[in-house]
Amino acid sequence: MSKKDFYEVLGMNRDASDDDIKKAYRKLAMKYHPDRNPDSKEAEEKFKEGKEAYEILSDAQKRAAYDQYGHAGVDPQAGMGGGGFGGGGFADAFSDIFGDIFGGQGGGRGGRSNVYRGSDLRYNMEITLEEAARGVERQIKIPAHEECDVCHGSGAKPGTEAKTCHTCNGQGQVRVSQGFFSIQQTCPTCHGSGKYIPDPCRNCHGTGRVQTTKTLAVKIPGGVDEGDRIRLSGEGEPGVNGGPHGDLYVVIHIKPHSVFEREGNDLHCEMPISITAAALGGEIEIPTLDGKARISIPAGTQSGQVFRLRGKGIKGVRSAVTGDLMCHVMLETPVNLTSRQKELLREFEQISQDEPAKHNPRAKSFMDKVKDFFGG
Ligand SMILES: [Zn+2]
Ligand SMILES: [Zn+2]
Repeated sequence: MSKKDFYEVLGMNRDASDDDIKKAYRKLAMKYHPDRNPDSKEAEEKFKEGKEAYEILSDAQKRAAYDQYGHAGVDPQAGMGGGGFGGGGFADAFSDIFGDIFGGQGGGRGGRSNVYRGSDLRYNMEITLEEAARGVERQIKIPAHEECDVCHGSGAKPGTEAKTCHTCNGQGQVRVSQGFFSIQQTCPTCHGSGKYIPDPCRNCHGTGRVQTTKTLAVKIPGGVDEGDRIRLSGEGEPGVNGGPHGDLYVVIHIKPHSVFEREGNDLHCEMPISITAAALGGEIEIPTLDGKARISIPAGTQSGQVFRLRGKGIKGVRSAVTGDLMCHVMLETPVNLTSRQKELLREFEQISQDEPAKHNPRAKSFMDKVKDFFGG
């Protein structure tokens, strides 16, 4: 079967720019990637074709050879052209293109196991309930890697340089024979980078990077709840061998509040009131997240009764409506009474005895049941 023209494979003219070629390949790779087209022979074939075409056309030297001699100019079997497939060019092209499209899959299929996406980072952030309700912007400090300023990122001691790894000839991969099979593995000498550093930089121990911290501004949207995560794309650990960065997840923790308890988008609070306020009714002052509010309670309010204030809860991140505030009334029995107070209460009790069923219906019916229970 004769090979298709590389430009045709990518749908490009011969004068296409590097950028256009890259874009065309990216589009093709996304469409036909085996991970997206499992079990499709046709997609696999198209993907391979595109990969090969891009490998040649993205490399100036190979492209020139292809333009001049056609397939013969770049076919390693034909023994012509400048340098053929050596030099780890594919690994570079690969990380470049696939890093951001298929990030997260790391190694995966054979031949690209030396390019890894960086790890995700988790940052626990504690905020107050008020901040959670309204949203807040916070500066956080996270670990970061910076290019080493002694070796300028090369990892080699100044005056020396990295050499092509001789175990894998710079491919980053080696073939290992096991019985009848031959499998490809990440090179044990260079760990896939294709290079080795004979004299490592002392400042960064040959990694080319030093650990620092960086400050990020994180916008927390109003309505977040305990355990919500905010993803900062690409702010995680750097990838390996040119792989993409991982993500940073800011995980929200809400401090317990002295007055309110949150349940979904509703808030609950407990409101102690005096027995006289409960008996007589009237306006009471209650706290809300926006400050004080007044509600009127009817005469004869009982302990445990709940008053709902619509829209005084929290507006959730994903919900269109705002929750309510539930005010749970608790009657407080007065303590440390003066003799005058006692006197008044005794008098009150005495005149209440005249019609117990009217003033204390629950106590009255309870006592009746007790009487029945003991047989009158
Ligand atoms: Zn260094
Ligand atoms: Zn190697």
